[in-house]
Amino acid sequence: MSDRIDNPWGERTPFAADSDWPNRADQHVEREPERWVQSACVLCSNGCALDIGVADGRIVGVRGQEADPVNHGRLGPKGLYGWQANNSADRLTRPLVRRNGALEETDWDTAMAAVVERARSVLDDTGPGAVGFYTTGQLFIEDYYTLAVLARGGIGTNHVDGNTRLCTATAGQSLKETFGCDGQPGTFADIDHCDTLFHVGINIAETQTVTWSRMLDRLHGPDRPRLVVIDPRPTQAAREADVHLAIRNGTNVAVLNALIRELVENGWIEQQWVDAHTVGFEGLVKTVQPYTPEHAGEICGVDPSRIRAAAEVLGSAERLLSFVLQGVYQSNQATAAACQVNNINLLRGMIGRPGCGILQMNGQPTAQNTRETGCNGDFPGFRNWQNEQHVQELARLWNVDPLQIPHYGPPTHAMQIFRYAEQGSISFLWIIGTNPAVSLPELDRIRSILAQDRLFVVVSDAFLTETGELADVVLPTALWGEKTGTFTNADRTVHLSEQAVEPPGEARSDREIFLDFADRLGLEDKDGQPLLKWRTPEEVFNAWRECSRGRPCDYSQISYDALRGGSGIQWGGERLYTEGEFPTDPAYCEDFGHELTTGVTFSEVEFKALNVAGRAILKPAPYIPSPEEPGDDYPLRLNTGRTVYHFHTRTKTGRAPQLQGAAPDVWVELAQADAERLGISDGDVVRVESPRGRVEGPARVTGMREGVVFIPFHYGYWDRDGRNGHDRAANELTITLWDPASKQPIYKTAAVRVERA
Ligand code: SF4
Repeated sequence: MSDRIDNPWGERTPFAADSDWPNRADQHVEREPERWVQSACVLCSNGCALDIGVADGRIVGVRGQEADPVNHGRLGPKGLYGWQANNSADRLTRPLVRRNGALEETDWDTAMAAVVERARSVLDDTGPGAVGFYTTGQLFIEDYYTLAVLARGGIGTNHVDGNTRLCTATAGQSLKETFGCDGQPGTFADIDHCDTLFHVGINIAETQTVTWSRMLDRLHGPDRPRLVVIDPRPTQAAREADVHLAIRNGTNVAVLNALIRELVENGWIEQQWVDAHTVGFEGLVKTVQPYTPEHAGEICGVDPSRIRAAAEVLGSAERLLSFVLQGVYQSNQATAAACQVNNINLLRGMIGRPGCGILQMNGQPTAQNTRETGCNGDFPGFRNWQNEQHVQELARLWNVDPLQIPHYGPPTHAMQIFRYAEQGSISFLWIIGTNPAVSLPELDRIRSILAQDRLFVVVSDAFLTETGELADVVLPTALWGEKTGTFTNADRTVHLSEQAVEPPGEARSDREIFLDFADRLGLEDKDGQPLLKWRTPEEVFNAWRECSRGRPCDYSQISYDALRGGSGIQWGGERLYTEGEFPTDPAYCEDFGHELTTGVTFSEVEFKALNVAGRAILKPAPYIPSPEEPGDDYPLRLNTGRTVYHFHTRTKTGRAPQLQGAAPDVWVELAQADAERLGISDGDVVRVESPRGRVEGPARVTGMREGVVFIPFHYGYWDRDGRNGHDRAANELTITLWDPASKQPIYKTAAVRVERA
């Protein structure tokens, strides 16, 4: 048995560059399984391969798959213990409908009739623009693609987005801005080959524990890579770093511009490669010119000599591997900052070779599929909504009129979907496997939107969440392990997850629910045949393979048979862009890009004027201060994030005893100097207030940089004992603003004040 509570990363198995990461099968079972069923973990973007142990028709444990290239058998705390949520006694087993103000159990016919009746009347009275779908990053390809075709090709609404908007929209957008298309250039195996690791706004030790184990095994191995970390918090990675830049949150672009300037000034540029494979070098050099280490140091609150030291590490790297996550994506100037990390690797010519790569990481192992299949404000198969040819390809695949697929403007992003619901233009909103009443910014506003009488809210979930409590109809869903499907992790590895057990009671897979809805609504193709022509998971997957054929995320050579019994398969091969050619041809690219500071969308004509022709785009951006800077009333900066033991709003991990026991409640992290000034000691209950709300919790005084307050965002209200009121969720404090290019909410920017409660 493995213990990953006291030691989340396990014992070290050091290894040298260019050798194999040793295997180790981690395992946790409650009793001896009768059989093992192939799957992979869905609790972070690693997507570690594992087998599910089954006895008496129940999941009784998991074991890591040693043969898999992603995890070599290892599992972290959430993977080892999170499956227990499947067996939780409070699973939803029957549909619920609201009657006289309260949710009551009912049968599927009654619940689906209520959903279809309201959808039909909204479509007849107002049209498809009044219908919105807000989905998750936790479904499988087979669920997502069914939803994408149903919503875009059947109903004809442009309002389809996922909670991946909150998490990794910036990852996808920065890749589109720089390379013309989504898709991670690098692979986790690059950790085995790199000589320099660059972490920007990623607390990887807590968010992707197994990948951090792999890094730790290199960092403690015979030829240790160097490590540069940019993060306001003293994370595990920061403690291992050669250079740690503890910047003020919200100042990523300033420090990255200074690093680029240093690379240029010192001649640490692969000029020949840059000239042959990129456009925009002169503009980038001009933009970074004002960002001397002194100037950036002043903005970011770090010593200029540390910026020079970091630049020297990056500039002398021979194999540079960069990782980015929410410290960039959920922060001020998200896409602009993520693009500067892409720029650093491009300037060094370090992409597409062993040890040289970029991982604009994801949060969920299924998030990539939300983006690929057209459920996260993108068109299926990384198609470009502005490209008529791409729209016609989808219309042919689905046998619908191209005009049936809305492409009058960019697909509606989640923040706009909720704005439309607030304004009343969306009156039917289906929320699938996600919990916006805890996870969206400014929760008081979100609760008021969802509680409106004029908005009909359908929630599909395995548990009655804070969002489900506000719904008109709640549909019980099957979880991972209770259905078959595929999903793709952050390094493009596709895994097959077989059904191990039956879902509880009357719960159904999301795919089955969407198919039932489409049948009852009578969605047809242009020949009067049912729009959705598949029933089984494998039939959907095969339809998806056809949809992706010839696109950058081409699954046509990946089948259930190929995935079954083996390990994961990466689409696009181990690394993308091995020849220095990029998918920026205007006829092929996914996006014509944006002006990064305003978010203005470029047209095809403007994109063609760049004459990119298969090269990458070095996009510059000046630093612009956060939209809500600290002042007299609210003098501190709020930073929100994760703990190693929980996932999202704890809908699953809060029901796994070991994980919940390790991190049972919210806390407030403060810098020593701030705590002393405010007369706060470790453990004191403090109140954190922003202009939008308040949170209370015990203080933890840490080595964090002065002026920053950290609160984990996992904690909502479903398991709250004894106390009423909304003062536990970090998003009571956050602000309704989003990045201009990726439309990802800016969670890490609120100004707050703290006092003893
Ligand atoms: S690292 Fe991520 S995918 Fe792997 S076991 Fe942990 S939570 Fe699951």
